[in-house]
Amino acid sequence: MLKTYTIGSYDGIPVKLHWSLSLLFLFLFYFGREIIHLDNTGLSWFLVLVLTLFLSVIFHEYGHALVAKKFGIKTKDIILSPVGGIARLEHIPKRPRHEIIVALAGPLVNLCIAFLLLIILVCINYPFSIPSDSYPNDFFEFLRVVFWLNLILFAFNLIPAFPMDGGRVLRALLRTRMGTEQATKYASFIGSVIAIAILAFAISLHYNFI
Ligand SMILES: [Zn+2]
Repeated sequence: MLKTYTIGSYDGIPVKLHWSLSLLFLFLFYFGREIIHLDNTGLSWFLVLVLTLFLSVIFHEYGHALVAKKFGIKTKDIILSPVGGIARLEHIPKRPRHEIIVALAGPLVNLCIAFLLLIILVCINYPFSIPSDSYPNDFFEFLRVVFWLNLILFAFNLIPAFPMDGGRVLRALLRTRMGTEQATKYASFIGSVIAIAILAFAISLHYNFI
């Protein structure tokens, strides 16, 4: 049973939080305070950062939903859970080209957010290199981390592993040559192979095999 709470709505599309998110926030509060020993200011920035990350995910999902609407597809809702967000479209776009555009719309929102933040950082002459300290303690450091988080959201979602956005693009490309069911099967298989390859790569890095 999907237990969710509606926190707001835009253009007739409600945003719902999965109940387990409250456990995640409690855990992060405990993690910030007891494990990495942040002071009150550090803890506030840390929690604001987590909220901003989820806000970036909400914008990403609205990117999918609002572009889908342009193609006449309604979105039931946007659900956020500890593993990310999902815009639940009533059906996938009939034309593969439309599926590609809807899939790319989400990551493009994150790219736009990152670009806007980059402009701000460049204008104020603030370094935008990868932050060494991942827990910001001032506003501009916070902007720098949010810039990188949105860039990561953009790149991560484009990994061609179905059901991620990159995988949806791949399925749409396959759909131009075969039926939707078969294309989904192939895209899921390629997605599993990529997931295993990434896992193997991460393990090799961890144990210095390469
Ligand atoms: Zn997406």
